[in-house]
Parts: sequence; structure tokens; C-alpha cells
Amino acid sequence: MAAKSRRPAAESSPVDFDRVRAIVAQELAPLATRIDLEGYYPEGVLHALGAAGAYAAHVTAAAGDGHLWDGVRAIASVAEECGATAFCMWCQDACAWYLAVTPNESLRAQYLAPVASGEQLGGTALSNPMKAFAGIETIRLKGRKVKGGYRVSGQVPFVSNLGRGHVFGAILGTDDGSHVMALLDTDMEGVKAGQRAQFVALDGTRTWAVSLHDCFVPDARVLAAPAEALVPKIRPTFILLQNGLATGLMRDCLAMIARAGRSLGHVNRYLPEQAEPIAEALEKLERETEALCATPLATDRDYIRRVLQSRIDAGDWAIKAAHTAMLHLGARGYVRTARAQRRLREAYFVAILTPAGKHLRKDLAALDG
Ligand SMILES: Cc1cc2nc3c(=O)[nH]c(=O)nc-3n(C[C@H](O)[C@H](O)[C@H](O)COP(=O)(O)OP(=O)(O)OC[C@H]3O[C@@H](n4cnc5c(N)ncnc54)[C@H](O)[C@@H]3O)c2cc1C
Repeated sequence: MAAKSRRPAAESSPVDFDRVRAIVAQELAPLATRIDLEGYYPEGVLHALGAAGAYAAHVTAAAGDGHLWDGVRAIASVAEECGATAFCMWCQDACAWYLAVTPNESLRAQYLAPVASGEQLGGTALSNPMKAFAGIETIRLKGRKVKGGYRVSGQVPFVSNLGRGHVFGAILGTDDGSHVMALLDTDMEGVKAGQRAQFVALDGTRTWAVSLHDCFVPDARVLAAPAEALVPKIRPTFILLQNGLATGLMRDCLAMIARAGRSLGHVNRYLPEQAEPIAEALEKLERETEALCATPLATDRDYIRRVLQSRIDAGDWAIKAAHTAMLHLGARGYVRTARAQRRLREAYFVAILTPAGKHLRKDLAALDG
């Protein structure tokens, strides 16, 4: 079941929500268990969602007239069925956003339209730099300025939504202490990318380790130098789109709890964990995310604080919702192909995906300190 709209999409929204719902019901739902248990990458579904406009809603926000909330809703519609596919959408959206806000017009002209339409698939390797900028870890990709570009080496362990010829945004540290953001391609000379880890969930996201060995990154592929100039424009959209992963999952958990109640309500009502607080938190999170989506380029402290808090709530409530669903479903939810236990494993990902709960709390403390 796809997300119910809290308000009709604006006339000019590029997202065809009827088509998104049809893709979810007819193409994605039959694949969800295979995606989860066999690590099947739903490439065809991702292209179809792109053709339905699912990655194009937010991109015009760079010019002040985007539909970021529709982008969040599109992710949520898919997250109601499958967290892995919804996360691949987020990767695609993040990549499109980098291209939407880059001052590099020729790179934007070449890549924005194919990425926003899902013709060209792509992702983002920004976990490490986001953590580096927050003082959590050091930058893993190192670049040396040479004539016409940078020579880059280093490794990032997890980049999702990859494949041969897929693009992804990355940030490298340079020898002069600054940072450069660039659009890389798995086919570039000096790039090695492949599956290293197997995960407890989200295995269908084609999450690869990426190594660069003296890879030449031409100036033409630079999204921003210094990267620091672009990061404040990227961050709220990057974070708010992730809230859709949580709201879709929470809605599905509420539906599971309601279905279980038909036969088990007489005993489930004794559980201390009930649907009402989840429904209230979902409503509040959707309302707050929608409000914050109206001004994705804002940089004032109050706005950033609200964005960070909403993302903390998204991670926390995704886990609470999936935990509650597990308890209500009981043994039905505990079999290997059951939806409830898959949602619980997916929910933990929402809370540990960068920016993770601990990272967000550190950022909030820094903002207030
Ligand atoms: C399924 C999945 C998909 C992901 N997709 C992306 C993506 O598309 N783009 C992206 O930038 N990040 C991606 N990540 C990384 C994610 O956003 C977090 O950065 C990561 O989960 C670590 O966050 P943390 O807060 O737990 O790190 P911390 O606890 O602060 O630090 C742990 C550090 O150790 C590293 N680490 C942990 N386990 C391993 C391991 N087994 N092998 C190598 N290094 C390890 C982590 O990368 C991290 O740098 C993905 C992670 C997972 C699990």
C-alpha cells in the first residue's frame, strides 16, 4: 500500500504519484523478499520510478521553486514497501541534488537531466566527508592538484546504488588542506568498485566499496572547489529526504499493527507498546518535514536545529515503530520471510545512516555550544 497523500501534489509537481503507487504495487512488492534475502538490486524499478518523475521533484529547489516535499513523499511511498529500494532512491536524489546546486554549469548540463530522470543511475559517497566535517573521522579520499585536475587516492567502504558506469558525488581532501567535491564514475581509470560486505538488511542496494588509485579527476568533473561552499546548500535536502525512509516505514508498521489487531487485538491491547504514539509521531514528523522542505536553502541556526531534530526523530521513531510491529505480530513476524522482522532490520539502518543519531546529536550539541 502506498503512502496516502496529506495534501494533493501541486499542479506542477513532476512526480506522477499514481504511477509511483502502481510501480510499488505491481513491480516492487513481488520483489521485496528477493531484494531483502537475495540482495537483488531492483534496477528496473529504479528506472521506472525515475520515468515517473520520482527523482525530479526537488531539483528545481536550487532555483527556489522546487517540490522537495514531493520528493520526500515519493521516497516514503516506496519505503512503505521496501527500505532498500527507497534508500536507492535517496542515493539517486542526493546525486541529482549535487548536480542541481553545483556552480559547474557544463557538468550540470551534461548530467542533471539523465540523473533526475533515472536514466543515469548514481549515488553519493558523502558519509565520510560529512563525518569528517563534524570532527568524527578523517577524510579518506586524498587529492593532489595537477595540471587540469586532481590525482586522487583512497577508499570509501560503502557507496550504494552503484554499478558499472554509475556516477557518484564524492569529496576529497587536497594537499593544501581544502576540500574538493567531484562527480566520479565507477568506469574512470583508477577506480575499483565492488561488493565487499554483506549486510543484515539493505543488501539489495548494490553497496560497494570504492578504491581510487592515483585516479585522474579532471576539473570538468568538479562540483565545487572548495567543497565547503556547497555543503550548507546540500545538507538540509540530504537530511530531509532521509525522513521519507522513516515515514514510509512507520506507515507500514501501523498498517501491520492494525492488521494483526483483527485477530490478536484481544491480547495485543495488553502490550505497553501501542500504535497511537507512533501515529502521532508520524503525523508530527510529516508536518515538520513538509514545513522544513519549503526552504531547503535556509542556513539560519533555528532552521538547521529543526532539520537535525527531525532526522533524530525519524531514526528513533522508525525503530520504535518496527519494534512495536514485531511485538504485535509475534511469531508471524518472526519467520524469515516476514515483513515485520525485515522492517525492524531496515529501521536500524535509518538510525545509523549518516548522519546517524549519534552524529546528529553531536551536531546539535555543537550548534548550541
Ligand atoms: C547498507 C549500507 C549502505 C550505505 N550506503 C552508503 C552510501 O551510499 N554512501 C555513503 O557515503 N555511506 C554509506 N553507508 C555508510 C553509512 O552512511 C554510515 O556512515 C556507516 O553506517 C557508519 O556510520 P557510523 O555512524 O556507524 O560510523 P562510526 O561508528 O562513526 O564509524 C565507524 C567507521 O568504521 C567504518 N566501518 C565500520 N564497519 C566497517 C567495515 N566492516 N568495513 C570497513 N569500514 C567499516 C565506517 O565506514 C565508519 O567510517 C552505508 C552503510 C550501510 C550499512
